Amino acid sequence: MESRSNSRGQPQRAVCYSNSWRKTMASPSVIVIGSGFAGIAAARALHDAECEVVVLESRDRIGGRVHTDYSFGFPLDLGASWLHGVCKENPLAPVIGRLGLPLYRTSGDNSVLYDHDLESYALFDMDGEQISADLVSKVGETFESILKETELIRQEFSEDMSIKRAISIAFDRRPDLRLEGLGNKVLQWYLCRMEGWFSADSDTISLRSWDQEVLLPGGHGLMVRGYRPVINTLAKGLDIRLGHRVIKVVRRYNGVKVTVEDGRTFVADAAVVTVPLGVLKSNCISFEPRLPEWKEAAINDLGIGIENKIILHFEKVFWPNVEFLGVVAETSYECSYFLNLHKATGRAVLVYMPAGQLAREIEKMSDEEAAKFAFAQLQRILPNADAPIQYLVSHWGSDRNTLGSYSYDRVGKSHELYERLRIPVDNLFFAGEATSIDYPGSVHGAYATGLMAAEDCRMRVLERYGMLDLFQPVMGEDSPVSVPLLISRM
Ligand SMILES: Cc1cc2nc3c(=O)[nH]c(=O)nc-3n(C[C@H](O)[C@H](O)[C@H](O)COP(=O)(O)OP(=O)(O)OC[C@H]3O[C@@H](n4cnc5c(N)ncnc54)[C@H](O)[C@@H]3O)c2cc1C
Repeated sequence: MESRSNSRGQPQRAVCYSNSWRKTMASPSVIVIGSGFAGIAAARALHDAECEVVVLESRDRIGGRVHTDYSFGFPLDLGASWLHGVCKENPLAPVIGRLGLPLYRTSGDNSVLYDHDLESYALFDMDGEQISADLVSKVGETFESILKETELIRQEFSEDMSIKRAISIAFDRRPDLRLEGLGNKVLQWYLCRMEGWFSADSDTISLRSWDQEVLLPGGHGLMVRGYRPVINTLAKGLDIRLGHRVIKVVRRYNGVKVTVEDGRTFVADAAVVTVPLGVLKSNCISFEPRLPEWKEAAINDLGIGIENKIILHFEKVFWPNVEFLGVVAETSYECSYFLNLHKATGRAVLVYMPAGQLAREIEKMSDEEAAKFAFAQLQRILPNADAPIQYLVSHWGSDRNTLGSYSYDRVGKSHELYERLRIPVDNLFFAGEATSIDYPGSVHGAYATGLMAAEDCRMRVLERYGMLDLFQPVMGEDSPVSVPLLISRM
């Protein structure tokens, strides 16, 4: 599939195509761009359906926004760490179940805090005073009432607006929902968690579409041993070329030609593009001919937010035995959230997770400064906290392989854009979390779109060669979960 030049500069026979774009072997061929969950799912499915597949990946590792780090001697996820929807309907359940990977449940269904519930937590104000559980749950109820009120506002207004504006209108209509003093600070903390879920600030999130994603049942489970074993298993035996940054994709009626940064080209019948939305937005991959206007509009109009992780490893545990710690403040921007990994993994690790504007600002700091910033937030709660012995800092917003953490619905833009981003253009197929209308911003969403793109792509190339009957569907029959998911809560 790769077209090389020999010592006389003539094109060499490619793995399955010559540089003249003429088919020289029987197997249909596909180039998959990106080796995150979407790319690996697509490549695995196409490979298993007897297609010639090569995966071109810009980084020196696979996994994309799933990145399990082992430098502390145990697994830590710098990107995704939860399986959202611990249930057999989750497309990833069969593989996670078969691998016997343990999960740790942090919330059940329909929690007001998304991936947490209020079973085990400790919230503090800026002076280190712990907030009573009673106040936190009462404010939680108020927050739910505010969101219900915003639903009414959504029905009434024909124009879309931000969640922030809708909340302000809700307060005008229902002054009884407005909280003062400590109550308001706790309310800001709830808002902060909502912003973390979308990786965006409430003044940019669409009221019309914020709740359009489908939440699978079964609650949210942390991958105790990290996501790496899952992606490694799916990637086994695939032809993956690391350090291959794609810069150009040319499509013609008889195939695609993909150029990587060092000038090498790859040709195939079709390509599956799974690079992140942020990368598509940056235009660092040129498409020839240009992508149609509706596709470019989808790329421009979908939102991409930022959430980062600052992982602090301590000598020993000195904090309360709760699932998460938080600092409440006057604004959601100033609030903080720490996930206590000790509960799930037994390691003395806290994960500070800023989102939106705050995450953007922290990304401008050095790693050391970022770790100090996170530690300073912790010291607000626990003034005598021991300093961390090690830290890890993610940079999902500025990393040129991602340029954002995950997609969200921007004000005034349709939720249908996810579907538009997915729809193929000739022999180019698109997959990735931002092409999932049901499960955007998730690993299982990315995985499902990879399978979908593989199936669409397979149909197209086989149709072209009149070989439709020869292969089994790549998605196969629904495979039952042969091993139940191992979920616990300590
Ligand atoms: C901090 C954080 C926390 C998250 N938490 C969760 C969670 O707990 N649960 C959950 O379900 N989801 C979570 N997510 C979202 C989840 O990680 C993503 O939705 C999912 O991993 C995206 O997979 P993907 O295949 O679409 O994209 P990616 O994983 O980003 O894969 C795209 C690949 O394309 C490669 N690439 C980029 N440019 C090029 C190029 N020019 N040429 C070749 N290759 C290129 C990239 O290097 C990457 O490997 C989180 C994300 C972040 C950032």
